[in-house]
Parts: sequence; structure tokens; C-alpha cells
Amino acid sequence: MKGIIFDIKHYAIHDGPGIRQTVFMKGCPLGCWWCHNPESRAREPFSSQKTEKMDGRELQVTETIGKEYSVEELIQIIEKDQVFFEESGGGVTFSGGEPLLQFDFLLEVLHECKKRDIHTVVDTTGYVSQAKMERAAQYTDLFLYDLKHMDDALHRKYTGVGNELILDNLQLLDDLGKEIWVRYALIPGFNDQEENLLNMLAFLQKLKRQPKVSILPYHKIGSHKYHRFGLEYKMNGVEEPAKEYVDEVADLFSEAGYEVSVGG
Ligand code: SF4
Repeated sequence: MKGIIFDIKHYAIHDGPGIRQTVFMKGCPLGCWWCHNPESRAREPFSSQKTEKMDGRELQVTETIGKEYSVEELIQIIEKDQVFFEESGGGVTFSGGEPLLQFDFLLEVLHECKKRDIHTVVDTTGYVSQAKMERAAQYTDLFLYDLKHMDDALHRKYTGVGNELILDNLQLLDDLGKEIWVRYALIPGFNDQEENLLNMLAFLQKLKRQPKVSILPYHKIGSHKYHRFGLEYKMNGVEEPAKEYVDEVADLFSEAGYEVSVGG
């Protein structure tokens, strides 16, 4: 069985506890307007031209985004960092795209990691069937879980899918007793309104276990990729949120008793 991966980042420190290896898997069922990894969305690998500088000259080179790996190949790469995981309390994080889209491959890799006692994190949109989420939870120590908007219609407008399944799966993982860190990408004009924040807080307060909350302020890094990949960037004119407002949002969650981080 093969999986398609578009990047592997070593020594990552924002994708879960300790020093981690983050595996970026291709394919995403959502199409968020602000996505800073638009190359992740298509499931299959594709080629694209990019400019590289060599000896002061600019050269056009062809880059292929996405590469196939077998379970064994990926496990060998993960195992190379195991000493760092052990020393730092880290492990491997599967991100994307939506890693659960390549479900059979991911499940097998997660299982192999747990056989080796490697800590596993899945960074998910939550947009996957409940049956798959429950099976993945068997071999996942921690979920990084995106919460984008509490209003179904707005969620659908800006991401392409509704939020019902996403909220149901978050509830499911909580019912299963899984550790969850909620990730809230703060996008001006989309989900930064007080009403949405209060609805989000009310939803989280119904969970049995209190998740950590990471606030990820919108940034424009990655917007150039839309031009490169011939995609429409719909966020033109949207500014990054002011630090004071990000701090206010962080205070809202921390005053409600949540452990909050900003930017990771
Ligand atoms: S869920 Fe993440 S990877 Fe998928 S489109 Fe949205 S921002 Fe991009």
C-alpha cells in the first residue's frame, strides 16, 4: 500500500509535544479560502514550474508536488528521528491536507508507530466518517483538531463543507477520552466575531475533557502559491489581525480556564 506525501518536516516544535517529525499528506476535502498549503488539496501528485537561483542566474525548474511512499519506507524515515522523540517527549504528527483522507495507509502507519511505542498525533479537519475517526483514534495519542466556524452555512461558504460532521467527531473523540488540542485559525471577517467565539466556547465547555486551545492568526504567507499553482486567491484585501485583538481572544479562552497558545 502506498501513501502520497508532499513534505516531511524534521524537528518540528509546534505540531504537538516535544520534538516531532511532521508528515504532510496530500488531499483535503475542504477548500478553505485562506489555506496556506493549497498544493495539499489535490490528492494526486502534480508538477509545477518554479524559479531557482543558481550562480546569480534564475532558472525555471520543474518540481513534482507529492511522492508515493510505502508504509515501510515511511516508517524507516520516522524511525530515524526516534532518539529525538525519546529525549524530548515528542513523536510523529500526520498533517496535510487531511491525513485521514488516505485512511487505510494512515491507519497502517499509525499502527506500526504504536508497535514501536512512538507518540502519534493526527492534525485533522475532523471531516471524515465517524467509523474512520473511531478506528484512527485507536492508534492516535493526540488530535490537533481544527475548529473553523460554529455556523454551518458560513462554514460551508468559506470551506466548501458544513460543520455538523466536524462537531460530531469532536464530540466523539471526547467521548472516547482522547486528548485533543483545538486549533482555531482566526480569520478576520470570517470567524473572529464575538458571537462565533462565544458559541465555540459554549461548545467546548460541554466536552468532558478540557482541550488546549491554539489560536492561529491569519497570515499571508503562502498567498504567492496561489499564483504559482494557477489558483484563485479569495483573501485579497484581508489584513492580518491586530495583535491586540489576538490577545483579547486568547484572554477570552484563558479566562474560561483553557490553556491557550498563540501561533502554534
Ligand atoms: S482544511 Fe487545512 S489543508 Fe484543507 S483546505 Fe482548509 S486550510 Fe487547507
